Amino acid sequence: MIVATTIEDVKKYVKEWKKQGFSIGLVPTMGYLHEGHASLIKRAKSECDKVIVSDFVNPIQFGPKEDLATYPRDFDADCKLCEELGTDIVFHPEPSEMYREGFHSYVGVDVLSSELCGKSRPIHFNGVCTVVSKLFHISEADKAYFGQKDAQQLAIVKRMVRDLNFNIEIIGCPIIREEDGLAKSSRNTYLSAGERKKALVLHKALTEGEKMVRAGEKDAGKVIRAVREIIESEPVARIDYVEIVDWNELQKVDIIDGPILMAVAVFIGEKVRLIDNFIVE
Ligand code: AMP
Repeated sequence: MIVATTIEDVKKYVKEWKKQGFSIGLVPTMGYLHEGHASLIKRAKSECDKVIVSDFVNPIQFGPKEDLATYPRDFDADCKLCEELGTDIVFHPEPSEMYREGFHSYVGVDVLSSELCGKSRPIHFNGVCTVVSKLFHISEADKAYFGQKDAQQLAIVKRMVRDLNFNIEIIGCPIIREEDGLAKSSRNTYLSAGERKKALVLHKALTEGEKMVRAGEKDAGKVIRAVREIIESEPVARIDYVEIVDWNELQKVDIIDGPILMAVAVFIGEKVRLIDNFIVE
């Protein structure tokens, strides 16, 4: 496995692979890899000749009061996992490599970025679209793999690719959960043992919401109220949002009469903000 820290280095290998006719899969991550990431890498490995995993905590997608400085990192463990999974290149650049002095170009998708996480994280998705665009160009990947765990991100990246004619296919992959249902996340490590148990309320609430929708409930407000009530029954949980949006433009709906995304963001304790969701197509 190659560990590359410069863009030039990755491009050198990509050029060689392209010459030999290999297909390339890209898995963009911020590191501190877990089984959620592993599922993306495995899928990429099964569909592409060569797999590049980017391991980069992207500073421009964090707001000034967010957890950039404390975001968990363990590059050695990441490399070990990537190697086990047959990754060809781990791309691990410094921020100064990705954003050279005088960097002034950004990519963004409006409308889809306006609701859900876009409300409390106004610069987040432009940061994501910008870094992902750079990674698409650097890797020249045929396919890129994203988790439904970050459903809004998945929808936005797909739309960016469609709108701006990127020559890449975006593959959405299901949410990988702990045995008790908590969605796997690098940020779960911030939780104390007590909070970890209480964080289960997200999954519990969403399971109930999904049951209602699948049973034919059309009133989005009613589902939202039921989900909120369950989350609010847990005193350490503080809701950032509980929303139902259409699974196309990501705009709020009152009546459920097409594909929807129900998404929640909840603070557990003072600082840990967790997200989870379900989609009913
Ligand atoms: P991150 O490192 O958190 O930026 O995540 C990198 C990629 O892994 C994103 O496409 C995420 O949606 C995906 N991912 C993170 N957690 C999970 C999970 N529990 N299940 C599936 N995919 C995930």
